[in-house]
Amino acid sequence: ATPTALMVGTGRGAQLGILIKGPEVLESTRRVDTVVLDKTGTVTTGTMTLHALHALHTADATDGAEGAEGADEETVLRLAGALEHASEHPVARAVAAAATERLGTLPVPEDFANVPGLGVQGVVDGHAVLVGRQQLLAEWAIELPAALAAAKDRSEKAGRTAIAVAWDGEARALLEVADAVKPSSAQAIARLRDLGLTPILLTGDNTAVAKTVAAEVGIDEVVAEVLPEDKVDAVKRLQAEGRTVAMVGDGVNDAAALAQADLGLAIGTGTDAAIEAADLTLVNGDLRAAPDAIRLARSTLSTIR
Ligand code: ADP
Ligand code: MG
Repeated sequence: ATPTALMVGTGRGAQLGILIKGPEVLESTRRVDTVVLDKTGTVTTGTMTLHALHALHTADATDGAEGAEGADEETVLRLAGALEHASEHPVARAVAAAATERLGTLPVPEDFANVPGLGVQGVVDGHAVLVGRQQLLAEWAIELPAALAAAKDRSEKAGRTAIAVAWDGEARALLEVADAVKPSSAQAIARLRDLGLTPILLTGDNTAVAKTVAAEVGIDEVVAEVLPEDKVDAVKRLQAEGRTVAMVGDGVNDAAALAQADLGLAIGTGTDAAIEAADLTLVNGDLRAAPDAIRLARSTLSTIR
């Protein structure tokens, strides 16, 4: 009877939009007490747009950025857009789309490099350009002038990711990008809580942004500014505390953490790497399938016992 009940469980999962790798997965699903959720593309839609562009004008350059030339918006979009066009990151897509819409065809960068969890760098129109987090600029000893630092603060407190643009050794602009939380996320989190589970938001993004998004969907605990290769350690740490951890993610970044977790749940609209690493796939990307899966596992296994 046991295998039959498990088969019924996996069949019911398919009806709920949950693809289960094997019947044995239901056993680990039942024991989960903590659910770690990736932010971008999991709790939020993952489709980011450019919300604002703050170019450092020569007038602002006097407070902090000695010698800064200032920049016009079109130059910022051209240089940043050209670099981001070569990246697949949700932030990059937002910047490249805005630049293409405004300027049409963009130059092709030379010496392009993606710096995971930090941003992109390369040469555009003969300028050495950086686009990314403040930490990326810091690696090149480039400081953020006061006017841009203030814009960054406001952006992050409002829950929007702040991206700095620098070229030829000076920070020139700050971009605000954001996506929206999925309409179903808050309800999914509430249902996870009803099942007695603790939700935690995990992201490479800034802490202020993470907290704003977490508050919007009802999550209290946030682990932010985690480099892609460190997401797996965040899961290990929770396991070392004695927790049984489910991880929900969509990105290439999330694959190792999904494999490390006691239960990995991939967003079906996410990357192949995440889907391959996971035990369960939430087919249409609706987070409410996560509490559904846990409820299903509990009821299927209690039928057996
Ligand atoms: P997430 O948890 O949101 O998937 P990542 O680890 O991919 O985060 O990225 C962390 C942060 O690094 C982003 O929030 C962004 O600030 C910055 N970043 C990463 N890639 C890029 C890029 N191509 N352009 C600009 N910023 C980037
Ligand atoms: Mg993601």
